[in-house]
Amino acid sequence: MSDDKQRRCAVCGEPVVKIRVTKDVCGICGKGFSNEDLCPAGHRVCPECRGSMTVDTINRICLSSASRNSYEILMAIMSEPPLRMHDAKHHMAVGSALLAAYLNSGGTADLDPALKEIQKRGGSAPPGACGFIGNCGAAVSAGAFYSVVTGSSPYSEGSVWGDVNMLTGKCLLAMAEVGGPRCCKRNSFIAMGVAVAQVREKLGIIMEYPEKIECGFSDRNEECIKERCAFYAKKLE
Ligand SMILES: [Zn+2]
Ligand SMILES: [Zn+2]
Repeated sequence: MSDDKQRRCAVCGEPVVKIRVTKDVCGICGKGFSNEDLCPAGHRVCPECRGSMTVDTINRICLSSASRNSYEILMAIMSEPPLRMHDAKHHMAVGSALLAAYLNSGGTADLDPALKEIQKRGGSAPPGACGFIGNCGAAVSAGAFYSVVTGSSPYSEGSVWGDVNMLTGKCLLAMAEVGGPRCCKRNSFIAMGVAVAQVREKLGIIMEYPEKIECGFSDRNEECIKERCAFYAKKLE
């Protein structure tokens, strides 16, 4: 389910050549895996190692960023090699970037354990959750962020419980109105915009978020919906 026209090596970031699936050995953990990417420099990375490299990237950026803008933080994560065009690790990245921006904007939480908790909860949304169970992982990730910073649980009463469900609900409605096919970038941007607005309105923490986003990923997305997407950057050709 990878539809990245410009797949990149998780180690060096160079474009890889798609090859017929072959048995290979991961250069990091030494385990065998089915490889279909040929890196010009010969890097071989199994899906598990790519996954942990992505989580390390998310953490490194979120733990060191001073930005109040969750979009900026997410873009820093998205521009690093391990995160693919469409990748279930967006289910961790969205909430993590929101948390970092929230703390840099005056919100309070214990960064390290909160990051872990958001990633555990967001990461529980399986790949393709949008189309398979009708619950996009970027929305889940934003919900996990909101739940962690408000201390919401299944036993929370009234608006604390209500607001976290309100947030994911609003994200899903906004995504549904656009229609498919899925795009992890588009849905991440939508979820973040909804979360930033609700945090401002309900929690009084003002995070920065761009008024207009021009997506730079459409060339990599085989299923980009182009003009139907609010973030599509029209190019003069
Ligand atoms: Zn490489
Ligand atoms: Zn490996």
